[in-house]
Amino acid sequence: MNKRTIAILGATGSIGTQALDIVSRYPDRFHAVCLTAHNSSEKLFELVRKFRPACAALNIEPESIPEDVKFCQWFFGPDSTVEALKASRAQDALCAIVGIAGLDAVLTALDGCERVLLANKEALVTGGDLVTARAREKNVPLLPVDSEHSAIFQCLQARQGNPVKRLWLTCSGGALRTWTKAAMEHATVRDVLKHPTWNMGGKITVDCATMANKGLEVIEAHHLFDMPAEKINVVIHPQSVIHSMIEFDDGAVLAQMGMPDMRGPIGYAMGYPERLPYDAKPLNFYELGHLDFAAPDHDRFPCLNMAIEALKAGNGMPVIFNGANEQAVGAFLREHIPFGRIPEVIDHALQAVAPMKINTIADVYALDRAAREDAENTLRRLSC
Ligand code: NAD
Ligand code: MG
Repeated sequence: MNKRTIAILGATGSIGTQALDIVSRYPDRFHAVCLTAHNSSEKLFELVRKFRPACAALNIEPESIPEDVKFCQWFFGPDSTVEALKASRAQDALCAIVGIAGLDAVLTALDGCERVLLANKEALVTGGDLVTARAREKNVPLLPVDSEHSAIFQCLQARQGNPVKRLWLTCSGGALRTWTKAAMEHATVRDVLKHPTWNMGGKITVDCATMANKGLEVIEAHHLFDMPAEKINVVIHPQSVIHSMIEFDDGAVLAQMGMPDMRGPIGYAMGYPERLPYDAKPLNFYELGHLDFAAPDHDRFPCLNMAIEALKAGNGMPVIFNGANEQAVGAFLREHIPFGRIPEVIDHALQAVAPMKINTIADVYALDRAAREDAENTLRRLSC
């Protein structure tokens, strides 16, 4: 069998390393020809030794590179990810960089690859219609890796031309699901990084605790499945066993289920349409006993509605939401602001930054800069 070549952008992260776990289980099917990372050079060197890509990239300039990784073509600096991706001529690209920092890579992947496996939700939230238009123009499938969107994508295989009435995005509720509003105000980084069901990178784990993540996912679902915000419902489901659902006009609801393990949706995108077994823990309904559901509490988790309102308002409001959120989450992780101030930073940017019609990627970056500047001003005020 011919090996499929894949670029793993953000290879040292939570998604990247789990994708490489799938690669190592199927050495006859995949060759990871391009591996990239931000600044975790030692970790990337290890991966390069093991997976022997043709190209590799680091956003920083390391002091030196070890002799035993010099066999591959190295790229360094701010444009290194896209340069390495282009040079590798990978058939597939798994976009697993965190934040809008991954947007250029997604666009480059759409220009040069046969398929784009998308974990980097912020690229779709900010790039929005420009990203989906590029995918259509280039006829490149955007395969979802986010577990909820993978679930919906899997359920949609059974649609057979019928209209979809509603999408149901499930949500674990994050680390602070049962906390009071007063206690949440001062949740520490340690409290927040203890996610109950998934083991993920720092930024997305904070986003889960504020539910900004579910807001980003509503926007992501809107773009991937061409559904208006009004037809996307969020339901709290603490066991994270139903990954999401679709509802039809006759009242039938299809759900995709499984134990929470990101190698499921990552492997599904990598092998699509074939399913690739890994050492998944089987779902044991006898042990599960029951599944719980609840409506989100918008008072304790205001970021969810801010994102949904931003989607409804359009005109770049999702870009403002995302930029301010990235700044606020960074400040919280550096312990510059308490957890309870994150929504305030985002809300200020949404009120203060002038929305604009997005025509080009340059517009996206301009609005992102404006949102970050506003967030930085709020953060300075809050840390005084
Ligand atoms: P992570 O922080 O664990 O890893 C991020 C990766 O991107 C690392 O390899 C890092 O070196 C690289 N990176 C970070 N900043 C970069 C920059 N400025 N330029 C280039 N590379 C950079 O993050 P993660 O949890 O793996 O999440 C990656 C993406 O996947 C995010 O958009 C997240 O929302 C999405 N996602 C993650 C999960 C999960 O289970 N971790 C689930 C669904 C969606
Ligand atoms: Mg998700």
